[in-house]
Amino acid sequence: MRKFNVVVLGAGGVGKSALTVRYIRDVFIDYYDPTIEEEYRRTVKLDGELSTLEILDTAGAEQFTSLNEVYIKAGLGFVLVFRRVNELPSPTWSYFVPSLTQEASLKEVDHLRQQIYRIKGGDTDIPIVVVGTKLDLVNEREVQKGKIQDLANRWEHPFYETSAKRNWHVSDVFEDLLRQMRKRYPHD
Ligand code: GDP
Ligand code: MG
Repeated sequence: MRKFNVVVLGAGGVGKSALTVRYIRDVFIDYYDPTIEEEYRRTVKLDGELSTLEILDTAGAEQFTSLNEVYIKAGLGFVLVFRRVNELPSPTWSYFVPSLTQEASLKEVDHLRQQIYRIKGGDTDIPIVVVGTKLDLVNEREVQKGKIQDLANRWEHPFYETSAKRNWHVSDVFEDLLRQMRKRYPHD
């Protein structure tokens, strides 16, 4: 059975862990611990074929770190996560992420995407899925879906809007990525 390394990247608090844990364990984590970094594993049958996804849920991807570089080198597929909404900071939140806006989280995705291309030697044919999280939350300041869709189209990667809380479109993300990885890295 083939094994594919997946790396989940994005700014702190965007919902990387909630998305990953929803996919792996089908539960929603309601608390926020931005320091948790863990590797999860799930075997899936997709299109009649079994594969194992090894999913690394990263922490603290705000800046370029050498650790990030190591992860990107080892990764075959990437989930780039941003937050669809601005949220009123709770005391715990503002402690960890004082001023991260929705737009900053989107910029971080753009930055990560370019980092990935660079680390992969300029190759842009990389399995990537862009994810806007917290679809269940409504906020008048959220960036228009059209604008996000335009960006995602320009990046030429599939784009999903998810809710880890409600379990909306979470498996779509990982299944899309698995199909891309199988195609990009076929059996030899
Ligand atoms: P990470 O730093 O990117 O791993 O962010 P987390 O996954 O820890 O999520 C940060 C906070 O947002 C936590 O309090 C989560 O419960 C919350 N959160 C994550 N995903 C969702 C979602 O889909 N809907 C809602 N309402 N909250 C979410
Ligand atoms: Mg996390």
